[in-house]
Amino acid sequence: MNFDKLQKMMEQAAADKSLFDKALAYSLEYSQSLETRPVFPDNASLEDLSQFTEAMPEKTGDSHEIIDLLHRYGSPATVAQTGGRYFGFVNGSLFAPVLAAKWLADFWDQSPALYVSSPVVSHLEAVCEKWLVDLLGLPDKTVMGLVSGTSMATICGVAAGRDQLLKNLGWDVQLDGLMGAPPLNIVVGEQVHATVYKGLSLLGLGKNRVTSLPVDDQGCILPESLASIDINNSTIVLLQAGNVCTGGFDPFEPLCQQARYAGAWVHIDGAFGLWAACSDDTKHLTSGIELADSWSVDAHKTLNAPYDCGIVLCRNKEALVSAMQASGSYILYGDKREGMMYTPEMSRRARGVDLWATLKTLGREGVDALISGLHRRAVLAAEGFEREGFRLLNKVVFNQVLIDCGDEALTKQTLENLQQSGECWAGGAVWNGREVIRISVCSWATTVDDIDRLVKAFVQARNDAVK
Ligand SMILES: *Cc1c(COP(=O)(O)O)cnc(C)c1O
Repeated sequence: MNFDKLQKMMEQAAADKSLFDKALAYSLEYSQSLETRPVFPDNASLEDLSQFTEAMPEKTGDSHEIIDLLHRYGSPATVAQTGGRYFGFVNGSLFAPVLAAKWLADFWDQSPALYVSSPVVSHLEAVCEKWLVDLLGLPDKTVMGLVSGTSMATICGVAAGRDQLLKNLGWDVQLDGLMGAPPLNIVVGEQVHATVYKGLSLLGLGKNRVTSLPVDDQGCILPESLASIDINNSTIVLLQAGNVCTGGFDPFEPLCQQARYAGAWVHIDGAFGLWAACSDDTKHLTSGIELADSWSVDAHKTLNAPYDCGIVLCRNKEALVSAMQASGSYILYGDKREGMMYTPEMSRRARGVDLWATLKTLGREGVDALISGLHRRAVLAAEGFEREGFRLLNKVVFNQVLIDCGDEALTKQTLENLQQSGECWAGGAVWNGREVIRISVCSWATTVDDIDRLVKAFVQARNDAVK
């Protein structure tokens, strides 16, 4: 093999329409089999993954064989989360029109670091930024960065807050780092998402800096709790739109008002919940979010955009851009959008295309219908579970349903049986020190019939556990 030979080979593959026809046929076969395939792979499919285990190949691979292998042994070992009977975590599905747009963009293979590296993606990102500010009801000048997910988006938002607060105190993090800097305090709710702690430690703000505020039985911060601690202009307050167990929302209005008055920075982790702002049914939950300084939200969860697509939003452009700043003589910022000014990464995939295509496909009315539909199906599921004698542990304000079987061992066994069944998939969680079952209605594809099947599958799983 030499470069010329490799080039010939890849030229041939690029012109081989049958290769792409095959990939398309397999893809459609996959999506059309979602109704019948197990939601979680069976044991035989998992064992077949060993087909991929080999030493690093010495020779070039055959393009058709590669696609065949992936479909034969890869497709059966997937989690069918794009179908209607996956209720795990807060994982979203995807829309076919968006997938089609993404395919086209995959052929472009753009790197949206700078305007000159991809005018089209830079422009689409700028369009999305305006749309999101409008859709979520955020302050006019809010800026957006596209990152892998909410974990990273929260890091970006908190980095902006950290640097801005320290700058106000006369300390420049870019120049002097954190060693010797005035101390910052972090305030979170007791039910803060685990990824926030990961972010805080990456940002040099350890766990011992954190004060956690008491929460109510839905995991939401008690509105009066912030008044009882000392917050000031060296405090970062992290609030949550959508608790992963209950779907509960912190009371943003009173908390943001107190924090702003004290000169603190407020970041809202709204990974799946911030979209509640886009539906008349649920927007009361997010009232007051516009008073925060920064927000993180995933397009790949409740909005059903393809993975991965996280969004950081920041009221103060200067704060986010200076926290994400890189400089190099070859990086020339113009008056066009330079994507890397808002993100830690320089090169990254063209998420702006996915996000734009999702919002363009749905429109305001589609986003509203999606969010209210997920909420209503969650309510329906909760009613079904209660009817069948499961204990409902949360108020279903959004798309999360938390249940148990009364007895902890029975709960565990029921969940295990359900996960084995392949009929549906839901995850476990620990709530108030007890093992519980968490159901997330997060897919546009979930029908009323799927909710019925979900409840029936749980009844069956519980019956089998009692046997
Ligand atoms: C999913 C989630 C995260 C993490 O987001 P990723 O996109 O997985 O990085 C953070 N907070 C909450 C509330 C979440 O639901």
